[in-house]
Amino acid sequence: IMATIGFIGLGNMGGGMAANLAKAGHDVRAFDLSAEALDRTKAAGCLPVGSAAEAAKEAEFVVTMLPAGKHVQSVYEGELFDAVPASALLIDCSTIDVATAKAVGASAGAKGLAMVDAPVSGGIAAANGGTLTFMVGGATEHFARAEPILALMGKAVIHAGGLGSGQAAKIANNMLLGATMIATCEAFTLAAKLGLDLQTFYDISSQASGQSWSMTSYCPVPGVGPETPADRGYEGGFASALMLKDLKLAIGAAQDAGASVPMGANAEALYQAFANLGGASKDFSAIIKLLDGSWSA
Ligand code: NAD
Repeated sequence: IMATIGFIGLGNMGGGMAANLAKAGHDVRAFDLSAEALDRTKAAGCLPVGSAAEAAKEAEFVVTMLPAGKHVQSVYEGELFDAVPASALLIDCSTIDVATAKAVGASAGAKGLAMVDAPVSGGIAAANGGTLTFMVGGATEHFARAEPILALMGKAVIHAGGLGSGQAAKIANNMLLGATMIATCEAFTLAAKLGLDLQTFYDISSQASGQSWSMTSYCPVPGVGPETPADRGYEGGFASALMLKDLKLAIGAAQDAGASVPMGANAEALYQAFANLGGASKDFSAIIKLLDGSWSA
């Protein structure tokens, strides 16, 4: 059945996601502050509108894909809560801090509105291709309503728990990813210094207990393992700046919750150092160059 969907935030990720909803036959009313993003979304079959409120006013679903917590807070509290029909389901897919996700979800609830946090794993290619993984926080009945809409943009839609749980799952996962990537880079750097052939080390470790996604799906060494950003000069992929953003969210949440995360804190410090040295736009596996001493901006 065709639904009216308001979509706000048509950047690298939101542009492709909104296009997939339009492709599935939904009436997508799209808004972004950028005129260029609005033009692209029109070409992709969405209806560009002049404000977030206009995108939302007749919507059965509202999807947002914004940069950070402050944008989410201002768009929902400043515009959407007053504009949406009472029956609408609000779905925030941005990656934001757990505290803001819970606070905005609670203000929605106080107004009688249904809301879920639904951050994604997967980058721009997955957004364009409709193969994202969604981690959803919110009430079971709200998850059930969100699932068929999110499934049009993704390959997996998982209920993580109550409000804020989607964000919690996302940042815990990405903290693990940041730490395993650095550990994998260190292992290759050590292996090289000890005179091991890196393909041989890969063949051994990828079938031994050091194996992880960072090694076998995203190997940081050019020419070793499957094709990855390392084989393209560390361009494309998942930018170190975005990894750093997610690590900062994880460390902030850990401090709030009283969780001890020394490896995560080290990963944050190393990605911060890499960003300071000019690595922010490089894929996050490029941090191997910081560790082996070959980095120059
Ligand atoms: P982006 O900067 O490309 O897009 C954000 C868009 O939001 C921009 O087009 C901007 O103009 C728009 N925007 C900002 N404030 C607005 C407002 N008040 N009203 C309307 N539009 C507004 O960012 P992105 O890469 O698409 O990422 C979006 C979110 O997805 C972020 O939270 C990011 O952490 C997360 N994420 C990104 C990736 C990735 O690989 N890029 C992967 C997973 C998750």
